[in-house]
Amino acid sequence: MQLSRIMNKISHLLDDLHKYSLKVTPVRLNILNILLESDKPLDSSSIKLILNRYGVKADRATIFRTINSFSKKGLIKEVNLGESKMRYEYSGRQDHHHLLCQRCGEIEDIYNCKINLWEKEILNTTGFQIRHHDIEFFGLCRQCQKYE
Ligand SMILES: [Zn+2]
Ligand SMILES: [Zn+2]
Repeated sequence: MQLSRIMNKISHLLDDLHKYSLKVTPVRLNILNILLESDKPLDSSSIKLILNRYGVKADRATIFRTINSFSKKGLIKEVNLGESKMRYEYSGRQDHHHLLCQRCGEIEDIYNCKINLWEKEILNTTGFQIRHHDIEFFGLCRQCQKYE
């Protein structure tokens, strides 16, 4: 990675921590970076594995605490895909949803969400003001359909 890109990324991470009044620690910086870079929501044990690979030492409790404080402040979001574990992703991403394959467990992001049109209609007909929606899709990926 180019030095200027690295500098930009670090300053973005520092800005985020600052904005949410979180003190900068190596564990916080690294966890935030991992979630920022990931193209799918991660659970805490995957985060721990990646931290280990980066050579960052953090025990389970520290990771849990960090994730919790990020999530409470809204810096990251919980993603519940009906598994026994919770996953997390960076909040500042464009509206998107997930396709979870129930056979191989592969997760894919989908964009181009049209639910905001439905939200407008709901507002018009019921007067209810929707702040956010939380929708995931479950089924079979293209590959797995061959085996069913
Ligand atoms: Zn699959
Ligand atoms: Zn949406």
